[in-house]
Amino acid sequence: MKKSKKRAAAAVIIVLLVTAAAAALLIARPRLAYMAAETISKISTQTKLKETECKTESVAVSELSERGIEIDDTLMLVNTDHMLPENYQPDLINYKDTDVIMERHTAQAYAELSEDIGEQFNEGLFVTSTYRTFEEQQQVLEEEGGDTAQQPGASEHETGLAADICFNGYAGMGVLDCKAGRYLNSNCQEHGFIIRYPLGKKNITGIEYEPWHIRYVGKPHAQIISGLDITLEEYINMLEVGKFYKYKDYILSHQQGDELMLPLNVKTISVSHDGCGGYIITAQK
Ligand SMILES: [Zn+2]
Repeated sequence: MKKSKKRAAAAVIIVLLVTAAAAALLIARPRLAYMAAETISKISTQTKLKETECKTESVAVSELSERGIEIDDTLMLVNTDHMLPENYQPDLINYKDTDVIMERHTAQAYAELSEDIGEQFNEGLFVTSTYRTFEEQQQVLEEEGGDTAQQPGASEHETGLAADICFNGYAGMGVLDCKAGRYLNSNCQEHGFIIRYPLGKKNITGIEYEPWHIRYVGKPHAQIISGLDITLEEYINMLEVGKFYKYKDYILSHQQGDELMLPLNVKTISVSHDGCGGYIITAQK
């Protein structure tokens, strides 16, 4: 009896010590506390994307520009299975009056994100890397090696849609050690960005967790992807070709072929390549 009591007491002490050690670790490393809290909150909140019926008209892809609809690349999937052609030409502009180069929509959304961070925190948002040419990506690969760098043609940086962000004194995984970095990770979807390589999704993205790499996909899509806790790979795969989906006042559709079925009675329509030979249509009522 005495022995088993001693054992039970020892077990209790071990449990207490492990709990105390875990708590100490979470307090000392805010990034771990953040990652634990995010994982729990994503289990409890679920976004809903409902299928819907809608009136449509058929428009040839070649006639879209006559309708004032440009095809952009904001939802384009880029990875080792969906490589960019060597002569790929992104739609690039300078961010404000800096020499930072970004894709056109991305630059606008980044300005919003940066303003949001500036208003809430006494922190400036900076970039360590945005657009890279094919040659620059080749150089990054040679310098960093294949474990962390993508081969040319497989990096989102070559589209100008991605940015590696940092804060003063906080870069890489360290962005989760500052309040502004944690806020950005939890809220960038409100400005059309996703954390492209989330925690625990390496089996899908092929890339370890990168809380510093944000990717522009546009507002409703970023909110849905983040709300469903999925990756861009899973999102494009989830949208069944030819179907229409409703999210808030948006109608979304994933389509293929030379003719697109565009929703009628909507205020705006935009079309993006999906990087897999198809298109994603985003209409707002
Ligand atoms: Zn990056």
